[in-house]
Amino acid sequence: GELQRCVVAEELETIVTLTSNEARRRKVTLQLEAANRDLAVNADGEKLRQAFLNIILNALQATPEGGRVTIAVQPQQQNCEIRISDSGPGINDEIRQRIFEPFFTTKPDGTGLGLAVTKKIIEAHGGSLSVESAAGSGTTMVVQLPLSH
Ligand code: ADP
Ligand code: MG
Repeated sequence: GELQRCVVAEELETIVTLTSNEARRRKVTLQLEAANRDLAVNADGEKLRQAFLNIILNALQATPEGGRVTIAVQPQQQNCEIRISDSGPGINDEIRQRIFEPFFTTKPDGTGLGLAVTKKIIEAHGGSLSVESAAGSGTTMVVQLPLSH
């Protein structure tokens, strides 16, 4: 689709609103940290929101009751960095190597497509998607996208 100037905090707010019922149902605190509204990227807004939705849904699904999903947005050199952290079980080394493969899932009813699609979307926008996680210490998905000037 068309590239437009997207304020990252606004796109994230849209997805947080969209997933707030799911968070409440799961008794998980979903929080967008005070985000810098000057940070914008050139993106297909619909694709960008799809990418954020996939990551945030995974985080909510991984987090036990009483846990927390936190979203932070910050500038990182020429990039906008978005960190989505959860207090779930984390991902062990063996699984972590496979999470971006299409159809790889550990969920009984999973498709295994969310992260494969999300990585393609982010890379098509000149960015990167990576994961920081160790079993037992939660998961942080890190999105980097070139800032629009
Ligand atoms: P699906 O959600 O359908 O399983 P995804 O591509 O979205 O497919 O995710 C692939 C796999 O990556 C998941 O099945 C899960 O094992 C792992 N995963 C993704 N996000 C997280 C997370 N936040 N915490 C723990 N595991 C995760
Ligand atoms: Mg998923």
